[in-house]
Amino acid sequence: MKEIILIKYGEIILKGLNRGRFEDLLVRNIKKALPKECRADVRKSQAITYVEPAEGADVDEIISRLQKVFGIVFIARAGVFPKDMDVILKDGAEYLAPYMETVDTFKVEAKRSDKKFPFDSPAISREMGAATLRRCPHLKVNVTEPDTVVRVEIRDSEAYVYADVARVSGPGGMPTGSNGRATLLLSGGIDSPVAGYMMAKRGVELNAVHFFSPPYTSDLAKDKVIELGRILAGYTGKYSLYIVPFTEQQLAIRDNCPEEHLTLIMRRMMMMVAERLAKRSGSLALITGESLGQVASQTIHALGVTNEAVKDLPVFRPLVGMDKDEIVTLARKIGTFETSILPYEDCCTVFVPRHPTTKPTLDKLLESQSKIDMEYWVEKAVGEAEWIVLE
Ligand code: ATP
Ligand code: MG
Repeated sequence: MKEIILIKYGEIILKGLNRGRFEDLLVRNIKKALPKECRADVRKSQAITYVEPAEGADVDEIISRLQKVFGIVFIARAGVFPKDMDVILKDGAEYLAPYMETVDTFKVEAKRSDKKFPFDSPAISREMGAATLRRCPHLKVNVTEPDTVVRVEIRDSEAYVYADVARVSGPGGMPTGSNGRATLLLSGGIDSPVAGYMMAKRGVELNAVHFFSPPYTSDLAKDKVIELGRILAGYTGKYSLYIVPFTEQQLAIRDNCPEEHLTLIMRRMMMMVAERLAKRSGSLALITGESLGQVASQTIHALGVTNEAVKDLPVFRPLVGMDKDEIVTLARKIGTFETSILPYEDCCTVFVPRHPTTKPTLDKLLESQSKIDMEYWVEKAVGEAEWIVLE
């Protein structure tokens, strides 16, 4: 018997004019997520997308890869049968039996897109219900609150039978590439990878920038960031990471600017460098992992003066209203947490003032910043940026 994997996506996004584009992108991304060695055929027909594993392919591996493709809401394994009612009922009930062992009640919903099929939907539901009860006598029908729904879909060339108990959730969101590109300021911490994930989930293609300060930060710290970037690439497909040496800039700030403003001047400089690299790579926004009030440089005043350094692009801060424990929960879910907590230093933490201001004003900050040639240091950092591809 043949088994396929049905891809179910958000109904709301499907309404309206963007449907075709959305589906094409999703199919493209699914194909990318399932390279040749997965031995799975991806197809779209009659407004459904499905994946057909080859004989002997690792279906669990295929499903776990699909669970990282944004835009997918559910992934359902389904039995494929010829459009012969007797076969659908008998072999369909047999196919369902192992899945139904874990439930007590069910109902059947049938869909018939081939209107020439000799049974209508209520008749198919009735017959499939009876066949399921014959095969699994422990079950009871419950039409209001069933443990699971058995679904029968009569399509043009074949029929699908599956049960909701056998489906798993996808990540939801919108297909990567459906919402432009943005540049993520990626540190080695817990927050910024989660911020990148959240925007990527909305269909944004990523690009990333990391600032490092050798010898104050080690190669291990850099490797950790690359690993975090790779984990994100598992969701978005490959993208590039700019690695920007930042030691001289940090020393210049430390040696010339008032101590209370060190962090904020550095944050402003990072934003300026990131904006220029973003434009170079066709990004339409910046993304940071800032969360209101989390540290001195993320008070509402501090975010205001940091933001002012960015001239043309919007800055997305998807974590701005989240508590740390909510961010940690997400970091665990997406698989970045364990890498983020590895104990390597970040350039942000190398030169921390003892008494940072929490209520900076732009005037005072600009005055402190004027002690160095901002433009020179920003351009130098941009010029020295190297990039690598993450996949
Ligand atoms: P994270 O957990 O993401 O490191 P954080 O709470 O430690 O965040 P900060 O160190 O103040 O916060 O940094 C705020 C944001 O600035 C980060 O979320 C990230 O987007 C960016 N950022 C900080 N350090 C770097 C860095 N070395 N390279 C690139 N971006 C950085
Ligand atoms: Mg950090």
